[in-house]
Amino acid sequence: EAMHQIFTGIRQVKTFRMEAREFQEFERLNQGFFDRTLKMVKARALSNSFTSLMSNLAVGALVVAAGYLVLKGRLDITTGQLLVFSGALAMMYKPIKSLTKGYNNVQEALAGAERVFQLIDQRPAVKNEPKAVDLPPIAQSIEFDNVSFDYGADTVLSQIQLQVRLGETVAIVGPSGAGKSSLLDLVPRFYDPTAGAVRIDGKDLRTVTMESVRDQIAIVSQDPFLFHATVLENIRYGRESATDAEVYAAAKAAYVDVFVDALPDGYHTRVGERGVMLSGGQRQRITIARAILKDAPILILDEATSSLDTASERTVQDALTRLMEGRTTLVIAHRISTIQSADTIVVLNAGRIVDRGKHEELLKRCDLYRGMCDLQFANDVVEPRRS
Ligand code: ATP
Repeated sequence: EAMHQIFTGIRQVKTFRMEAREFQEFERLNQGFFDRTLKMVKARALSNSFTSLMSNLAVGALVVAAGYLVLKGRLDITTGQLLVFSGALAMMYKPIKSLTKGYNNVQEALAGAERVFQLIDQRPAVKNEPKAVDLPPIAQSIEFDNVSFDYGADTVLSQIQLQVRLGETVAIVGPSGAGKSSLLDLVPRFYDPTAGAVRIDGKDLRTVTMESVRDQIAIVSQDPFLFHATVLENIRYGRESATDAEVYAAAKAAYVDVFVDALPDGYHTRVGERGVMLSGGQRQRITIARAILKDAPILILDEATSSLDTASERTVQDALTRLMEGRTTLVIAHRISTIQSADTIVVLNAGRIVDRGKHEELLKRCDLYRGMCDLQFANDVVEPRRS
């Protein structure tokens, strides 16, 4: 369970740069898990074959003895005796087979363990160049310069040309599988492009340290990830050095204070996997508070597609609006209000940018966009456009 927590939260861990701490914990757990599993597999394999071997060994010994006597000519063999002899042989077959099987089981376990260790030892796809320098705080823009990308097989992104200027919000829309998430994953360097470059203030992200890039990015994803820890600790994860006052301020800005008093221990209530059950909207607000506390200049946001109840929806939206204020934002948009307030909407299809512009322009000229609006935003309340 603890391993599950670490795996599912891996992106949170990466962007909040807690790898070292989590990795130690993971190694400790993993070593323990491996030791126990190996012990169990060994014990089971040995005991199975060993007991059956012993129970049949006696018969086997008799057969061998009989065979010896026959060969030496000291025993006249009858048909009946031959029958017994071959029967005994057949009985020996099983324990020998299970002994081999037991051995195979151990081999399999070892091979499996080796694979697990290979995975653990695997270098992350992205690493710092030896000469990498720290990226100074973003001052101008994020730029995708002729970026193409694949995961090793089919092309996922082709020749993406896109600039997001400081403080701007760019909304990405497109059908499922268009490459929206993959596009955003290139900014915190979860992956590097296969061709072209992603640049911040003109600096190719491959030439700067991953940590200095991730320090400048907050990510709020579709499924809010909470650690099995208290509400307070979950928010503080955004910035470990924050004072209590700062954590409470972030909680307030994200409307966490609205529901926290109703929890059994307030801010000290344990949430996450085995903790108190929170609604989707409440979980989301905690992750938004975490991002507010991190106070990073770049925001990567994947809006939830699942609908929350209207009241929750409203507060989550308000919390997000606060979070987006003054930040350079790339958002996978699912809400009409988000795309209406975006500076640019980018329409992505099959890994290519097929159009870009403002909502009204795109409605007029982009069939794909209009179709998506009709489908996706049919249930949304169209709000008056914010300026
Ligand atoms: P959705 O709206 O459904 O989330 P999307 O537009 O965000 O889709 P991506 O998740 O970027 O699209 O996926 C683009 C393509 O890349 C898809 O064909 C997907 O199957 C593939 N893909 C995504 N992640 C991986 C991965 N880790 N390894 C291999 N292929 C992947």
